[in-house]
Amino acid sequence: MKYKIAIIEEIHKDGVELLDKHPNFEYELISDVSEKNLIEKLPNFDACTLRVSKLDENILKHCPNLKAISRHGVGYDNVDLNYIKKNKISLLITGTANAVAVAEHVLSMFLSLSKSIIRYDEEVRIGNFKKNSSEITTFELLNKNILIAGFGRIGKKLISRCLAFDTNVYVYDPYIDEQIIKDHGGIKVSRIEEGLKIADYVSLHMPLTKETKDLLNYDVFKIMKKNSIIVNTARGGIINEHALDKALNEGLIFGAALDVFSNEPVENNNPLLKNKKIILSPHSATFTDECTSRMAIETIKNIIDFFENKLDKSMIVKL
Ligand code: NAD
Repeated sequence: MKYKIAIIEEIHKDGVELLDKHPNFEYELISDVSEKNLIEKLPNFDACTLRVSKLDENILKHCPNLKAISRHGVGYDNVDLNYIKKNKISLLITGTANAVAVAEHVLSMFLSLSKSIIRYDEEVRIGNFKKNSSEITTFELLNKNILIAGFGRIGKKLISRCLAFDTNVYVYDPYIDEQIIKDHGGIKVSRIEEGLKIADYVSLHMPLTKETKDLLNYDVFKIMKKNSIIVNTARGGIINEHALDKALNEGLIFGAALDVFSNEPVENNNPLLKNKKIILSPHSATFTDECTSRMAIETIKNIIDFFENKLDKSMIVKL
């Protein structure tokens, strides 16, 4: 008997090939992720991969055979955790497969904002080749203070890259030992405000929880440096978007970059779409060719290892 795997939404072929080669697995790609189609298709499967579509009780209650959901990523706010816990369905994640891609995305945002890359590009295209340098402010990273909030897989990849630019890196993560932060070359701050007051650059790398919802709000922007730049590749909702728009317009902070939004896809009437002080990307920090391949391989490998009882425990979410 072969295990039946549903691949919900296409993943990189390097992952799928692992199933092609394996004698104990068969699979089907499910591209139509409407609730109706998932309810119709999923009941036959033993496990599934999952990108961004939602698996809630309404769908999962029709899947008596499902033993594992393998997330193509590390976040899992699109899965009904209560239901899978009650019904003993395991939730697998892709460890560090995407950490470097996100860390590099953050640096590209830090640099693009600091060097006004987008603005210079626009000016050159309309013939303003010798744009007066005083009209556009640009910065160097050298000797600047960076605050990394959340020091897990991505935060740890980011710190070494920031230190390579000769910056001072402060870390806010109440759940990580000071010694671990020191060993990585960082300086621990016990309250986020402490770091925000001195930071020239802030990057968020924690989950969205009750504790972190609206963590960066208008009152917080008021204590930050006017030249500061904030990048959020973690989860929308950690930064209050209306407050961010207001703070940018009032010059409380210099710029921001968002890869994640409170509502995704971002709505047409979101005021941030019109704000020139912000760079936006469509939750694409992990879309590098290398990362999509690594994530697909890890997503499928987790399923194979799960059924062969050799899955590394760190890949299973404790519910
Ligand atoms: P991780 O679980 O390895 O690390 C998260 C860290 O946040 C942990 O060290 C934890 O102690 C810390 N933390 C928890 N609550 C906190 C709080 N209140 N204040 C400060 N720190 C807190 O996660 P990761 O893999 O590094 O991912 C970080 C974030 O990035 C997650 O939100 C994840 O969903 C998101 N993410 C986004 C993308 C993307 O495509 N943009 C890709 C991967 C991960």
